[in-house]
Amino acid sequence: MTTLLITHPAGLAHAMPPGHPERPERLKAVEQALEAERFAALIRVEAPLGTLEQVALCHPAAYAEALMASAPTSGFVQIDSDTLMSPGTIEAALRSVGGAILAVDEVMTGKARTAFVAMRPPGHHAERLHAMGFCIFNHAAIAARHAQAVHGIERVAIVDWDVHHGNGTQDIFWDDASVLYASTHEMPLYPGTGAASERGIHGTIVNVPLSPGTGSDEFREAFEVVILPRLDEFRPELVILSAGFDAHWRDPLASINLREADFSWVTQKVMEVADRHAGGRIVSVLEGGYDLEALAKSTAAHITALMEG
Ligand SMILES: [Zn+2]
Repeated sequence: MTTLLITHPAGLAHAMPPGHPERPERLKAVEQALEAERFAALIRVEAPLGTLEQVALCHPAAYAEALMASAPTSGFVQIDSDTLMSPGTIEAALRSVGGAILAVDEVMTGKARTAFVAMRPPGHHAERLHAMGFCIFNHAAIAARHAQAVHGIERVAIVDWDVHHGNGTQDIFWDDASVLYASTHEMPLYPGTGAASERGIHGTIVNVPLSPGTGSDEFREAFEVVILPRLDEFRPELVILSAGFDAHWRDPLASINLREADFSWVTQKVMEVADRHAGGRIVSVLEGGYDLEALAKSTAAHITALMEG
């Protein structure tokens, strides 16, 4: 079945100061990995600009307006302790949103079965009212709301295996029973949220915190015992993946010890859920992953699994 790869050169123009881990080289590493022969069957599409109306599905209009008003014409503007804007940031963030929306449109209309959005900045730390943790707009969350608003489905699941908790996604869907948000993440670690006791108003937030040093076995057990059964119970009509690869053992920002094979495994397991309930529809968006080699190899493993489903 067809897998889309959605990206745009604007993702490289979101500059960061020297030494910042969320750097353009991340996207270059992913692109290089996807030049391999086995990815020739990917349908490659440019990410369109997302609109402010689409951003407003999850963030108030004043939020985007304030960010755009403070965007620099040169250099950097700091908007949070570790989150900055450069002149290319707004376009990159809007194309991250537009790419995720296009992925939903193509998958929901059957033009593709799965799609991967290779863009930056990432999104899952962006709350309704706060850009933080390298994130500007929460593209996974916006994609979920878009699927409901435009394609008329009721239940969307967002599965997030980035090593950091997606506090932004949790914030946006805290009181929304129509979106199941399930996350594995290292704890304690930035941003500090994601305890198992944080369940949302309707019990549709599912957090499985993992201790530093956790390896493949405990990660897979978290999915087999907690997350996959909850997904089956929820019966999502679309599955969105917040695909971060910073739980890899090589990653410098965290200490979970996953390998590429774990990302293949979890992709296949979630695809089985999507096959049972969602016609196989999966939209995956890139979140974190800060060791270039680990990011490239893990993304390749993830996309290979998406293509083989
Ligand atoms: Zn992360």
